[in-house]
Amino acid sequence: MSPTSILPSSHIAFTAAPSEATAGSLLTIDLAALAANYRFLASQTDHAECSAVIKADAYGTGLEQAAIALSEAGCRVFFVAHPREGERVRTQLPDATIYVLNGLVGDHSDEALGYICAHSLRPVLGSYEEIDLWQAYCERLGLKMPCALHFDTGMNRMGLSLKAAHTLSERWASTPPNFEVTLIMSHLACADEPNHPLNKDQLERFRAMRACFPTIPASLANSAGIFLGSDFHFDLLRPGIALYGGQAVNKAPNPMQAVATLESRILSTRKVPKGWSVSYGACEVTKRESRLATLCIGYADGYLRAAGSSDESKGASVWIAGHRAPIFGRVTMDLTIIDITDIPEELTEPGTLVEMFGPNIAVDDVAAHAGTIGYEILTSLGLRAYRRYL
Ligand SMILES: *Cc1c(COP(=O)(O)O)cnc(C)c1O
Repeated sequence: MSPTSILPSSHIAFTAAPSEATAGSLLTIDLAALAANYRFLASQTDHAECSAVIKADAYGTGLEQAAIALSEAGCRVFFVAHPREGERVRTQLPDATIYVLNGLVGDHSDEALGYICAHSLRPVLGSYEEIDLWQAYCERLGLKMPCALHFDTGMNRMGLSLKAAHTLSERWASTPPNFEVTLIMSHLACADEPNHPLNKDQLERFRAMRACFPTIPASLANSAGIFLGSDFHFDLLRPGIALYGGQAVNKAPNPMQAVATLESRILSTRKVPKGWSVSYGACEVTKRESRLATLCIGYADGYLRAAGSSDESKGASVWIAGHRAPIFGRVTMDLTIIDITDIPEELTEPGTLVEMFGPNIAVDDVAAHAGTIGYEILTSLGLRAYRRYL
């Protein structure tokens, strides 16, 4: 893999290394894979448009870079969590439709609402309080500004009830609102388990809500929801994790290409006799004479501590030139030790790059060893790795 370009990035200024050569670990973001994943997801439906969820720095891959690549792949509608994320996307994409999932974030002052309007963001409103605030703000400005409505179909996190859907549609039939509702949406709680009964329940509830607003476009499916079939597609797909190569559906083959590859360099290697313990807590002991390598990455780099190993439990693995090597002992703040006994010595020289996850080690495998999900690993990557964009 060789980078064709390094885009200017707000991250670079803060990373631990000023250049690729000086970096202990490299995070490579494959924007062509991101675009291919977008096109693949968009092709899973015969009638719906495909948006992109790019909250949390586009799941750790870089907000601006991801937004531009997705836009070039044909994406017109984006979802962020915070207004500030929306502003950053707006700077890059003057014509995009940008929804703010967390709605009227902030203290609800004119400054907070004005920030959303100034950048032509569309808040996703999920309560009567938010609707009233938006209504009052539109009234004061004399502008009919767009927004989305979030309905709760079983997640109990955000959104209005079915009763509210009836009440609002009746109210608006006699007095149309002084703002424009451009989307109604809900969010699936268990789409990653295709047979979970809540999927069908949520679908039925969403259909009932949608019937209250028959002319407004509707959106239900996150990444996993797309694979539940066309009943779940409505007018707009809303994938996040699958765009970034993560596993959307549990226990199914992952059809997506890896987008993020995290590599770290071998700092040093050593021979350790049989019967010696390694790393903090002396939790894992060599079962044979071993060769170990110490990598320039730890939990402060976002490589989770829980991915480590002990005599009782296996940890995650890494990939070196066609070989899999297991983590040995606890992951520490800045360093991680791996077992390279079975790998030819000439492949493990200090300075060698080792794949922590990417095309050969699925981010979801690392996550499973750490008792979490790929989402958490991607969004925890932080700023230490030197970033490059393909
Ligand atoms: C994060 C999020 C998504 C994307 O979910 P994925 O599982 O990453 O595809 C879609 N809709 C809402 C409301 C979200 O919060």
